[in-house]
Formats: sequence, structure tokens, C-alpha cells
Amino acid sequence: MNPASMVGNLRIAGLFSCVFCLSLLATGVQVAASPSESPDPGLADAGSHAPEVQATNYVYHNYTDIKNHLVAIQAQHSDISMLYDIGNSWETNQGFADRDILAMKISDNVAVDEDEPEVLVVGLHHAREWTTSEIALELAANLTDGYQNDTRISWLVDNREIWIVPVVNPDGLDYALETDQWWRKNRHANIDGSYGVDLNRNYGGSMNGDSAGAWGGAGSSHVPSDEIYCGVGPFSEPETQAIRDLVLAHNFTLMLDYHSYGDLVMWPWGYNTNKTADDADLVRIGTEFARLNGYTAEQSVGLYPTTGDSIDWMYGAEDVYPFCFEVGQLLFHPTSTADVLGVIGDNLPPAHLGIEIAGDRQERPFQIEHTAVSARDYSSPGFPIDANVTAARGVDVSALSVFYRVDGGAWSNVGMGRFAGNDSFEAMIPAQSIGNTVDYYIVGYDVSGVELMSPRYAPYELHSFLVTAGSTPPIAEAGDVRLALVGETVVLDGRGSTDDIGIESYAWSFTYNGSLVTLSGPVPVFEFWVPAVYEITLNVTDAAGFFDLDTVNVTVSGEPIPEFGSLLVPTVLLLIVAVGLWRRTSKGS
Ligand SMILES: [Zn+2]
Repeated sequence: MNPASMVGNLRIAGLFSCVFCLSLLATGVQVAASPSESPDPGLADAGSHAPEVQATNYVYHNYTDIKNHLVAIQAQHSDISMLYDIGNSWETNQGFADRDILAMKISDNVAVDEDEPEVLVVGLHHAREWTTSEIALELAANLTDGYQNDTRISWLVDNREIWIVPVVNPDGLDYALETDQWWRKNRHANIDGSYGVDLNRNYGGSMNGDSAGAWGGAGSSHVPSDEIYCGVGPFSEPETQAIRDLVLAHNFTLMLDYHSYGDLVMWPWGYNTNKTADDADLVRIGTEFARLNGYTAEQSVGLYPTTGDSIDWMYGAEDVYPFCFEVGQLLFHPTSTADVLGVIGDNLPPAHLGIEIAGDRQERPFQIEHTAVSARDYSSPGFPIDANVTAARGVDVSALSVFYRVDGGAWSNVGMGRFAGNDSFEAMIPAQSIGNTVDYYIVGYDVSGVELMSPRYAPYELHSFLVTAGSTPPIAEAGDVRLALVGETVVLDGRGSTDDIGIESYAWSFTYNGSLVTLSGPVPVFEFWVPAVYEITLNVTDAAGFFDLDTVNVTVSGEPIPEFGSLLVPTVLLLIVAVGLWRRTSKGS
């Protein structure tokens, strides 16, 4: 994203979005004209319909509800959200149902695949883990509602491409809500008459050449009726194929995969206790998440060994930093509204952080130190903006710039130059008028392309200063009274004038022989040929436009003498005429 063009591009993005919506409709995502007419399923409906029960029991969303919510989000926020159909469920492929796997992209310029870090958020691989799709759906609402309202969310939407798949297993979700609240797998009709493949055992394995990490190994079963049945082969299921294809088509740097339950944050490997090459980063980031939601951070294998899960494949095959959250500690799907909202609320802050970290997974030190002040004196050369910029990977010195605007107008930018031999950079915002408010922010990149702004979430946060007149006007000092003789060169002296920010002009004026004479500079000279007392006014003006006056008297005495120039011209003319006459006379003889 080019920050300067951001605001202007939003309108265009909205236009593209609408065009794209039509093509989405044509390829299968259908807009529901009205919310689902079917009663809300879930535990809340399993018991009494008394109002007090409905008020305290959470109503989980089924697939249709979730789809309707996503369609509504896209309709309401078409400039920053776009809904994609990324594949079919197993029952849809068989013609038994119509449940597309839906992915919502949230970003500015949403129709364009911009060069921004991409992050993937996934919910509900397992049919009974109902809080996980609620978290993902709430995150989609939170990001779109927060755009232009919340500083950090706005920044995240502008600077990341966020893909959210609330329900990987739509057949399983509806089956669990309607028929068997403990159902885990998808609804694949297996050859032995049983149902379901464990979608989180159906990914392609660790892909790191370690046979222990291959699909179908530890923590999975090849017996179709088992809860952890891994399917007939890696990616045998349309649901995992949809996620695989989305991941292959994009460049996700980080993934958040929600499961329940256990209050855990986990990272690869899941297949055994070996550490990944990026273990230090994964531990650090996972620990940051856990600090926010109060969960326990640990390598995935700590829960139990698994093969064919999402996080091992995404890390090993596609270099994604994947994190598996086991949300909540009250079973797969708590019944009370307070408990569900608590689980959702606990997990939004780590999601925001994950979206942010997707821009720099190593989180290498990168700092822009800048001291902003709220008021600056007018200065005709402009306003220097200084910053100390350091980056562990190295600063991209050619890419540092300051964006600024005056009184809320259009953004302009100026590059920052480096002072030789240190980390100091400076840009010059051009001079502005007294009373103007200048907003600005600094944008820098390290040599890996990681972007950093000062203030952090600019332009939703800004540095600002008011241009003030300066603390004091100048004091004019026109010098001492002067006595001079006719024809004498008088040197005027205004050098005693003072000002806190510097005097920009000296203007001297007086009446001489009936005409106004003006002189400039601190020490001008003048020859007086007419005796008189001259009152000479000095006007000094400072950079802020303040001025001050002082006068000095010059008394010129002696006989008035015609100025040399006034005699010289007629004398020379007479001489030329005389010489001409003489030469004509000589030639004629
Ligand atoms: Zn799960």
C-alpha cells in the first residue's frame, strides 16, 4: 500500500468490489435475501424456550446463519471485505447439500492482491467445536466494524490481507448442531458404512522428509469408524483440499487455527518432540499470544502426537507460522452466553496481534525515534523533521519518507536524507503560514521490506504541530543621530536590531529633495547634497512576519552644491559639439 494514495484508492476498490460480487454470485456464492427462517439450532434449543433460558444460553450459528452473516458483512463493508467460495463440502459434492466453504478476505483495496503480508484465520475443523467458528465470525465483524473507527484495526486492514474461513467443516457443523452434539469429523460416507474423516488428520503431513511426520502416522487411525480416522490419503477430503488450495494460491506468513478446548496455544511440530528450525520465533510469538488470553503456550506435541494436522503441513510445506488455539476450558461448546462471549473476547486480542506479527515474523528490532512537538515557530526555510532510525536487518535508507498535510488537506511526501555516519535522518516540510496545522507521519522500511511508521498506526495516528508566530517580535535599532557635511557619504547602521528567530529584511525610507528614497540592508550608504534634517525610518521584519520601526535623524549642513552628475552631462555634450565642429573645419581646409 502506498500510504499517500490510500484514501483515494478506497473509492476505486469499492467499485471493483461490486463488479467482483456479481462474478462471485455467478460462481456459486448466493446472497440470501433474508436471514434463515429455520429455528436457531444449538444447545439453547435443546431445552426450554422460556425467555430467561434464551437470555443466558448462547445460540450458536449454523452454517446458513454464518453464511448470511458473511454475506451481510460483505454488503455492508464492500470496500474492505469480499466473500469467496473456496470449495465444496463432501455432502455438497455428492449433491446431498449445498454448503460451500466460505473464505472472507478483509483488506483495503480488497479486490486487488496487493503486496501486503497475508494471514489466514481458520475455524471449525471439528464439528463439535462450535466456539471456534464464532470466534472467526466475530473477528470478521470486529475487523470490518472497527475499520475507520479503531486506530489499530484500521491500520491492520490497510496493511494486511486477512483471510478468514470460519467453517472448514460445514456438513459436520450442521450435523453436530442438529443431530449429535459430540460429532467431530466431516460427513464422508465411508466404505464400511461409518461416517466421517477427521479433517485435522487429513492434511499432507510434515513434508520435511521425516517419515515420522508423514500423513497417517502417530495420532491418527486408518479405521474409518475411529474418531481420528485420517481418510484414504492425504487431502482426500474436499474440505482440506479447499484449505490447501487457498494456501497454495497465497503467501500466508501466519495462520491461526481455532479448536476447542484446553486453554492452549500451540505450534509445530505436532508429530514428535523435534524442534522446528524456527522454534525460537514460534515459541516467542506463541508466548505473546498466551500472555494476552491467559492460555498455556507449548509445542503441539505436548497435548498428544498428531500427524496430518493443519499446522504441521502449513509449516513444513508452505513456510507458514501456524498456531493452533485450543480455546476455552469448558468442554467443546459451553452453553452459557457469558462463557461463550468470554472465550470470544479472550481470543480477539491474540488475533489482532497475529495479524500484526504477520508483517514481521522474526520481530527483529526496528525503531523510529522521533520527538514530536505540538507547536513550532514559523520558519521560512521550513520545518525539519528529525528521526533516529535503527533496524536490526538494516534500514532501507532510500525509502524513508515523511508524509504531511496542511489543515487536513491532501497528503504530500518528502524523502528523508541521512546524516553521514549515524542513524539520524531528516526531512524538510516546506514553510507553512502562521496558524496552519501540519499533520505528519514517518514511514520507514528495513532492508527486508518490513514497514514501520511513526506514530505506529499512522495515518490513523498522527504527529501534529501548529505553526506559531514565534515568541517575540523584532526590536528595530536605526543607530545614533548623525551629523554630515554636504556631499559626505553617510553610512546608516541597523545592526543593533535584534530578533529571536532572525531578521529577514531591513527597509529604510525617507524623503529627499521631494522624493521618497528607500534603501535596504543592515548597512546602506547614501550621499546627501541638500542640507536638511532627514528623519530616516528603519523597518525590520522577522521570519514570522513581525516588524518593528525605529527612526534616526541625519543633519546635513553646508552650501547646497549641484550634484556632480548634473554638470557633467551638459559639459560633455558641449565638448562633443565643439570637437565635431573643429574636425569639420580641419577637413574643409
Ligand atoms: Zn479440533
